[in-house]
Amino acid sequence: MASKMLQFVKTEKQMPSKRTADDRAKDFDEIYRDFSKERAEEQASRCSQCGVPFCQVNCPLHNNIPDWLMLTAEDRLQEAYEVSAATNNFPEICGRICPQDRLCEGNCVIEKGFESVTIGAVEKYITETAFENGWVKPASPVAERDQSVGIIGAGPAGLSAADMLRRKGYQVTVYDRYDRAGGLLIYGIPGFKLEKDIVERRARLLEDGGVTFKLNCNIGTDISFDEIREAHDAVLIATGVYKARDIALPGAGLKGVVPALDYLTASNKKSLGDDVPEFDDGSLNAKGKDVVVIGGGDTAMDCVRTAIRQEAKSVKCLYRRNKANMPGSQREVENAEEEGVDFQWLSAPQAFTGDESVDAVMAQRIHLGQADETGRQVPQIIEDSTYKLDADLVIKALGFDPEDLPGLFGQDALRVSKWGTVAIDWKTMMTDMPGVFAAGDIVRGASLVVWGVRDGRDAADRIHAFVEAELSGANKAVG
Ligand code: FAD
Ligand code: SF4
Ligand code: SF4
Repeated sequence: MASKMLQFVKTEKQMPSKRTADDRAKDFDEIYRDFSKERAEEQASRCSQCGVPFCQVNCPLHNNIPDWLMLTAEDRLQEAYEVSAATNNFPEICGRICPQDRLCEGNCVIEKGFESVTIGAVEKYITETAFENGWVKPASPVAERDQSVGIIGAGPAGLSAADMLRRKGYQVTVYDRYDRAGGLLIYGIPGFKLEKDIVERRARLLEDGGVTFKLNCNIGTDISFDEIREAHDAVLIATGVYKARDIALPGAGLKGVVPALDYLTASNKKSLGDDVPEFDDGSLNAKGKDVVVIGGGDTAMDCVRTAIRQEAKSVKCLYRRNKANMPGSQREVENAEEEGVDFQWLSAPQAFTGDESVDAVMAQRIHLGQADETGRQVPQIIEDSTYKLDADLVIKALGFDPEDLPGLFGQDALRVSKWGTVAIDWKTMMTDMPGVFAAGDIVRGASLVVWGVRDGRDAADRIHAFVEAELSGANKAVG
């Protein structure tokens, strides 16, 4: 056991320091400052190097956390980076935005009575140091291969698959309907959680490593799915889920009642310096408005905190359960509270009022009743509890479902689940169509970045196995 470790007994857990809430409200920069070298080493040295590291077991990538913590504590950062990069294509991104309280850190089994080791911030520190020192290199395959793979979707699932396949020498083309690579990393998640140049730096690295990007290219409209299939030896569908869940209440069609992703995308595009007419004309801009956000997940938290930065007059979050039952990361809820968001717990919308544009939300109080078969208490409306919240912008953050992909791609053979997610054989990650694979949110439903990375890596492995089997004739022999 390295003598530097086990310092949890005398060193308390620390996160990198946070900017003050007042300071944060002025811009879209990340709220956490970077760890200094001393602080990162000190925090890494708290790890007790468990024989069975539950942090690692509960990281979807099974990152070798104890090893890179020990290497960091010993100031062997290049080795720490190599260990970390061996299992994660985007450690600096996961280190920033994974809900660590539910994954690695939430399962850290350091001695009872001591707080968990700070894992995500150290992961970010290792990779940022690697970038500063030029240790992060584009893919340079030992040999080029003739076979090509077409990837539809440049989110974390598509990009991690592209990285892995390119490293094996495949000719990789990534198609995306957006004008920038990154998927929700670029246009969904706001800069105060993940600054945009971090995502752009990764996209550049992939391009430098030989990945071809075809952006502004909507598959199913600009190019048919059949053409993509024809052009490549294998295809990966990594299109995410984008159909916003709606709310069927009186007044839901009023002007000023908008879907969360439209609102966040406009804000992200504005931060990236784009012309955004819907932002400039005020329809997707919270400045000076009373804002009500409906929902309690990560997307809702991103909306309320974006509205604070856009200088809204007031920002309220309406959620039908209580704080303990919020689906979003508790850390993000606390950040939102610090920034001045008014949470209306145990409240649900009843109607939206206004002539042409919304002017108020009529809400009702909720009581949590008996638990249902899922174990969660069922929200029940309290009679005669209606109250009014002024609102000139209402943001619906109720979750996302998959679009009708078989319809969009004109592929009846593309089997989907009852939820509309693409059905795959988890052993091969292949759909019912030979040579067509799928990964990320379009398979799991709305999930997490780290699961997208995991699926992208797994899909790359299975695609490689499939192509090799095709070359050797094994697929035909089996078929
Ligand atoms: P996506 O990131 O959605 O990428 C899919 C890509 O496919 C997009 O670029 C899209 O343009 C493209 N595409 C779709 N259809 C087509 C087509 N027909 N032709 C061409 N291109 C197409 N997760 C976390 O871990 N931490 C967080 O803090 C977090 N915050 C979030 C905040 C918000 C607002 C949202 C919406 C999600 C958040 N998530 C978070 C979830 C996370 O972003 C997703 O789970 C993850 O991005 C899914 O990756 P993906 O690659 O499957 O899909
Ligand atoms: Fe934790 Fe996410 Fe990093 Fe895994 S990838 S160690 S879950 S922060
Ligand atoms: Fe270290 Fe905690 Fe992981 Fe144990 S569970 S190896 S103490 S980080």
